[in-house]
Amino acid sequence: MKAIYLLLLFLGSQALSQSNSTPLRYQLEWQDNKIRVQLIFFPLNADSTRFTYGNLDYGGQKDILKGVQQMKVEAPARMTMDTANRTFTFYYVSISPIKISYDVVDTRSETTTRSQLFRPLIMSDYFFVHGFNLFLLPSGITDSSKVRVSIEWNKLPPFPLFYTFEPDNDGSRPSITTVDSIKFRFLTGATDLKVKKFISESGKNYLVIRKGGLDEKIEKDIERYYLSYNKVMRQFWKDSRKINYSLVLQPYLGVNHDISGVSFGNGFIGKYNRPDSLVKGGRLFVLSHEIGHYYLGDVAAFEGEENVGQWFNEGFNDYLTYYTLLDAGLMKPEEFESEFNKLFQSLYTSKIKKYT
Ligand SMILES: [Zn+2]
Repeated sequence: MKAIYLLLLFLGSQALSQSNSTPLRYQLEWQDNKIRVQLIFFPLNADSTRFTYGNLDYGGQKDILKGVQQMKVEAPARMTMDTANRTFTFYYVSISPIKISYDVVDTRSETTTRSQLFRPLIMSDYFFVHGFNLFLLPSGITDSSKVRVSIEWNKLPPFPLFYTFEPDNDGSRPSITTVDSIKFRFLTGATDLKVKKFISESGKNYLVIRKGGLDEKIEKDIERYYLSYNKVMRQFWKDSRKINYSLVLQPYLGVNHDISGVSFGNGFIGKYNRPDSLVKGGRLFVLSHEIGHYYLGDVAAFEGEENVGQWFNEGFNDYLTYYTLLDAGLMKPEEFESEFNKLFQSLYTSKIKKYT
């Protein structure tokens, strides 16, 4: 009798440790202008776990919670919601898995760079969503690089996908990764999505584009630019690491803005109005600046109050970008000089000078 009891105890703890090895399981279902998410989670804390949706540091989208609809938790678990902080707390009594479901909806109401860079785009031919805008993520866990998640589509979109956290997975198989790696990465897809792989000194690279309007010459130009700039950056930073780095470039939809970029851990997204001259002048500068963030990370970015550290992080990154572009021969000395003079002039005449 005792042996059976011990065996049951052993099997019980095996089942528990297995379930706890991937405590967050996201199952996704593509629907017309929304994604249905089913999250099965194994309690991370006793009694309750709090989750957050969205991130105001990304484009200050204060009404981002509008995109989460039909939030439900299976009884007997209960839920409370704090709209001001965009959090949902789930309460439970047992350690059995908790089942949550919700829809993520495309709620863009304006055609702006910010709405297309920082809000979910869920369209019949195009999809772009940041991890924090799709996955409800647990708050207050000590090391999110250790909490494993799985992502799986029950119904895929009708076009290929690209995960910046797992570039070789087109969405057709489950992805097993960590909270840390999905939080600040995005998922994208399009009917005309093209993923071109190439090798650089750093490792495997993924050039991810939408083919519409982007011819092969431009693709080659981007690749050539990256290979030469990456070489200079590696020398400058004495970098010998290997990384799978992604360069994602997509057109804005009806927004007339040259280019904007957002970097993430292992790559950047650039959105542009016209596909020509993507690696020339100001646009080349923006892409190089985003690559610079890979090296600088968040240095001093969160120091001080009211994002004052961002001034240093962005400014120092700009300075190093000018410097390394000159070094790479991608900027002429006369351009360097005139750009720098322009910058100093605008700082000197800035209305906010008195605050510096
Ligand atoms: Zn920046």
